Amino acid sequence: MSERWSHASRLVQTGTGRDDKTGAISFPIHPSATYRHPGVGQSTGFDYTRSGNPTRQILEEALADLEGGARGLAFASGMAALTTLFLHFSSGDHLILSEDLYGGTYRVLDQIFARFGLQASFVDTTDCDKVAAAITGQTRALLVETPGNPLLGIADLEALGRLCRRHDLLFIVDNTFLTPLLQRPFDWGADIVVHSATKYLGGHSDLCAGALIARDPDLGEELYFLQNSTGSILPPQDCWLLMRSLKTLPVRMERHCVSADRLARWLNEQPQIRQVYYPGLPDHPGHELMKRQATAFGGMLSFRVDTPQRARRVLERLRLISFAESLGGVESLITMPAVQTHGDIPEEERLRLGIDETLLRLSVGLEAVEDLIADLERALAD
Ligand SMILES: *Cc1c(COP(=O)(O)O)cnc(C)c1O
Repeated sequence: MSERWSHASRLVQTGTGRDDKTGAISFPIHPSATYRHPGVGQSTGFDYTRSGNPTRQILEEALADLEGGARGLAFASGMAALTTLFLHFSSGDHLILSEDLYGGTYRVLDQIFARFGLQASFVDTTDCDKVAAAITGQTRALLVETPGNPLLGIADLEALGRLCRRHDLLFIVDNTFLTPLLQRPFDWGADIVVHSATKYLGGHSDLCAGALIARDPDLGEELYFLQNSTGSILPPQDCWLLMRSLKTLPVRMERHCVSADRLARWLNEQPQIRQVYYPGLPDHPGHELMKRQATAFGGMLSFRVDTPQRARRVLERLRLISFAESLGGVESLITMPAVQTHGDIPEEERLRLGIDETLLRLSVGLEAVEDLIADLERALAD
């Protein structure tokens, strides 16, 4: 698609007119599992749906274009994308990851890949020196989430990109929280970008999907080999739904950011709140850094209330904001990471990170922000 157009225009045009037979505005869903060959040794370009599907192809091209990489791949979930990515490594290899990380990424490495000899260290990636100190002769890659989850710490992508190049490490960024519209990891030297498309890319809490985008075509081909060999592809119906969602991503992200900023400032003034974690607040330790490497601060924030009893009461009293896992949907969602998303991290480690039962994580949706404030005000009251 033409580079002259902005992402907003290119996203709206995803798949539009790409079906030559019909000129369909909305690209068709191709459920076919297999394809007729025109002759022996000939192919239409599609042979078998695990290896390639027309609907998935349009989506994958859009994902690569959006992130600015050479190759996009669509998976059945964010964890399917991450699992396929980890299959790129071998027994004895060592990975460094953010300690303020999605709980499922921790679990798959700690409880599954460890059995196959893949080593992982979880470090504070907001501190480059700590990352450098964790590098060993076996280290092959660094995987960073910024902002972190659930404490929204900010890692310096440019500095980490340089560190990875110096040590010949693959630099992987999980860009789920911001999307490429707000943060472009390839600009800072990333080799692979990961998404849980279940979150903002899907955006309506009605789809489970994941993505890998490779900057370089050879690495993209290797990831495709792993995807095709192990099979955790996104089904065509869901590819279509994700394409449909991508068309509104820019308007959704804009509103998520404005409302989150407003809510963070409001929460910061409430007497029952001990701390608000939102990188858009000027006193957030990563505020200046994030201004340099992202165009906005996103729709996620966490906050700490005065007591665990208050946290439980807030979850029970909220009416408009749903007490539910996940994030990035049009609906506002709130969770207690200690018992939900991060429940598989050992208690001692969780408490060291500050993930206790007074901490709540809020995914700010697209409801009227005044209504969200009113809902929280009532839930926080004594
Ligand atoms: C949700 C999430 C994942 C996992 O994605 P699923 O689609 O739930 O499998 C990975 N990384 C981050 C940052 C997430 O929020």
